[in-house]
Amino acid sequence: MSNNLSIRGGGGEDDESENSLHSKLYDVIIIGSGPAGYTAGIYTSRAKLRTLIISGTLPGGQLMTTSEVDNYPGFPNGIFGPELMMNMRQQAERFGTVIVDDEVIRVDFQKRPFIITTHGENYEAESVLICTGASPRKLGIKAEQQFAGRGVSYCATCDGPFFKGEDIIVVGGGDTAIEEATFLTKFGKSVRIVHRRDSLRASKILQEKAFENPKIQFLWNSVISDIKGSNKIGTIVVRDINSEKEQKIPAGGLFVAIGHEPNTAIFNGQLEMDDKGYILLKNQTRTSIEGVFAAGDVHDYRYRQAVTAAGFGCMAALDVEKWVTERKRGGN
Ligand code: NAP
Repeated sequence: MSNNLSIRGGGGEDDESENSLHSKLYDVIIIGSGPAGYTAGIYTSRAKLRTLIISGTLPGGQLMTTSEVDNYPGFPNGIFGPELMMNMRQQAERFGTVIVDDEVIRVDFQKRPFIITTHGENYEAESVLICTGASPRKLGIKAEQQFAGRGVSYCATCDGPFFKGEDIIVVGGGDTAIEEATFLTKFGKSVRIVHRRDSLRASKILQEKAFENPKIQFLWNSVISDIKGSNKIGTIVVRDINSEKEQKIPAGGLFVAIGHEPNTAIFNGQLEMDDKGYILLKNQTRTSIEGVFAAGDVHDYRYRQAVTAAGFGCMAALDVEKWVTERKRGGN
């Protein structure tokens, strides 16, 4: 993110929020601005906590790169991802949340107030709520970015229904790939799973279901080497890694399901995480450091939905509010 900071917020609903614009000490700093972060901001600022959201490199998170969102409740005709996120942002600002479009490069959780450092500033916080999410692993081929949102997807639950009657390719051999491929058979004409090895990593029960499904075929020892099309995907080029032979497969959709990377590098060594880097929680939303909370995909690798992230953001905000209030009363 550039050093050219954009600071928004303090919606003008009361004097307290106006003051928070000029203060570097916040009751809570929320790191990340996906559905978890913005929802948390709505709740904590509405509860009169001085709230700062540091949005990260992609303000609004993963949904900013999605087209239509069909399954977020409250929008009977769907809503575009960027519009949904802009609405959440404005709702948080309305209650006085201050939003800085910058990236956190360092955190110090050794003592309170905690210190959060961005490219541009140091901020202090009584509590911190981590909502940095997880990023889908990319194939790393040139055409992938070009067709993102135009046939390339990283979430079958989100985008599957847009691929009715299409030939679909799913990449990966883990639980997600197999679950998503099975789900996609409800919509697609055919589903091919392209996997780089000759056996799956997915659990046996999911494997058996997929092997029995007549709509699913497998291409073993294969990787995607190119994507062709004009406005949207038309053909996928698949390379056999043993013979090096390439084949062109007509397809309308490519679902990349090769895992996610939690965005937790800046917390390494400060918080307890699992072996994949997801933050471990106790008592619902608390991390291993008193006063530091987490919500959304940064700890949840199972559901990974906008609505579940928003729900986790709400839960964490309620816990933050209780914790900060008790602390102000001298309770912790
Ligand atoms: P994962 O288990 O890490 O599997 C990723 C898959 O993608 C692997 O098959 C891997 O191949 C392949 N892969 C990785 N990088 C690749 C690349 N650059 N090019 C091509 N292929 C690549 O990820 P996941 O399936 O998303 O699952 C994540 C966690 O969530 C797991 O613990 C899983 O059990 C859990 N999960 C559980 C459920 C369930 O219980 N119903 C559902 C979804 C997820 P290799 O096999 O060769 O390494």
